[in-house]
Amino acid sequence: MTVNTQSLIKLFRSVLPAKSVISDRAALRVYECDGLSAYRQVPRLVVLPDSIAQVQGIMAVCQEHAIPIVGRGGGTGLSGGALPHQDGIVLSLAKMNRVLEINRLGRTARVQPGVRNLAISEAVKSLGLYFAPDPSSQIACTIGGNVAENAGGVHCLKYGLTLHNILGLKVATMEGDLVDLGGESLDSPGFNLLSLMIGSEGMLGIVVEVTVKLLPIPKSAKVIMGVFDSVQCAGDSVAAIIGQGIIPAGIEMMDNPAIRAAEDFVKAGYPVDAQAMLLCELDGTHEEVDDQIRLVREILSANGAVESRLARNEEEKALFWSGRKAAFPAVGRISPDYYCIDGTIPRKSIGEVLTEIYRLSEQYQLRVANVFHAGDGNLHPLILYDANLPGEFEKTEELGSRILELCIRVGGTITGEHGVGVEKIGEMCIQFNDAERNQFHAVRKCFDPGQLLNPGKAIPTLARCAEHNAMHVHRGELPFPELERF
Ligand SMILES: Cc1cc2nc3c(=O)[nH]c(=O)nc-3n(C[C@H](O)[C@H](O)[C@H](O)COP(=O)(O)OP(=O)(O)OC[C@H]3O[C@@H](n4cnc5c(N)ncnc54)[C@H](O)[C@@H]3O)c2cc1C
Repeated sequence: MTVNTQSLIKLFRSVLPAKSVISDRAALRVYECDGLSAYRQVPRLVVLPDSIAQVQGIMAVCQEHAIPIVGRGGGTGLSGGALPHQDGIVLSLAKMNRVLEINRLGRTARVQPGVRNLAISEAVKSLGLYFAPDPSSQIACTIGGNVAENAGGVHCLKYGLTLHNILGLKVATMEGDLVDLGGESLDSPGFNLLSLMIGSEGMLGIVVEVTVKLLPIPKSAKVIMGVFDSVQCAGDSVAAIIGQGIIPAGIEMMDNPAIRAAEDFVKAGYPVDAQAMLLCELDGTHEEVDDQIRLVREILSANGAVESRLARNEEEKALFWSGRKAAFPAVGRISPDYYCIDGTIPRKSIGEVLTEIYRLSEQYQLRVANVFHAGDGNLHPLILYDANLPGEFEKTEELGSRILELCIRVGGTITGEHGVGVEKIGEMCIQFNDAERNQFHAVRKCFDPGQLLNPGKAIPTLARCAEHNAMHVHRGELPFPELERF
């Protein structure tokens, strides 16, 4: 049944205070995109519940009148996951931002979905605890968005992604149920629906409460910088460190364009003539860390590092990290626009994949800077472009698509941590076959038969894939290229 917007406002006002229903066109524009600002759509309405009962009331109205719902946390997503639907509403969890309970002995916290990622660690710092997944956007992104995207971060190499640090979820479904998945302990009976929900991009339910695992803050953490005159040597070092059984808290890599941009911005003391740089953080007890630093130094030098620098104190450590953390805005200073790609490859392929990215960059005449979670093989090529030049965004998207196909070809995947959203929906046609994608649709319909939750995202239809294949034919390539190693 269709319902006009005025009637819809009245229906929402019966379950929410009037001020929590946004209908003014100028105010709605705030929600027209997420971090992937190349895609924009003003929603019909935005609703801001502050309780689980209000979320359920909103969902009941939408279920009855077949209104699409797009959940939204901090709106920092980079794949267009929170892009509004033209006929739908945005359900913002921004007001549900309280830490509800901290269990010091059990090392858990129960929080609302709109709590910012960093706010969890801040709330438990005095207890010597923290929440390990640390996306670079952690100052602004929410735990609900982290769950929906299965977010990662610098420290996920050692401590796991969001998936590995969530014990339980409370989820509101389109059919009006409030389900508890997982719990307070490591295992729970029944199918593992908790894992299914994490990374489901807001398409199976609205997360209304999260129980997170907390870890003790390590006694010692040191950072060593490896400097290289080839990306191949830097990539080989990453594979060698992990291959030797050392699991650093994080290993991040930057190539020359990223090093130069970051150094120019924050003056972190980076080697601007190097072709690549690694930042490797080791944590644990003082003895463990000192031992591992010695081993990592040896491995870096055996793999061609021209220099390795250990941060001498906390100030220098913060300085080393400052450039990496500011790398995205730093790249934003040297180009009118940039497009962040997110794909994962086996660690051993880092060198050859970066070399192929440089070749593609030449071919498309678009600059690319690479700054990424090297330990996870999680690439973030930043393609520099100018949206004001006609056709430049389309060219950028095509280059992004070629890079993701490259990731698949070497045995990797089209997402590392940013999700599929609208951005990578075409590449899903290559990563998965028709039968696999049909199974995804079938799973989705079990939770949301009317497909009202975040429609059009993450799982392409057969028609969408036919369109994607046609684009490949247009480029003179096979629609489904043989996935053999180049
Ligand atoms: C500068 C920058 C750096 C970044 N670095 C990283 C990084 O290191 N690692 C990383 O993983 N990501 C990174 N990101 C991407 C982004 O921050 C993450 O994907 C984050 O998890 C999104 O959280 P959010 O609260 O902003 O979610 P949003 O962008 O608001 O939403 C993301 C998705 O989650 C859904 N959603 C949100 N809340 C709920 C809910 N309560 N229930 C159900 N569905 C919901 C939305 O519908 C959407 O599909 C970065 C982004 C930026 C801008």
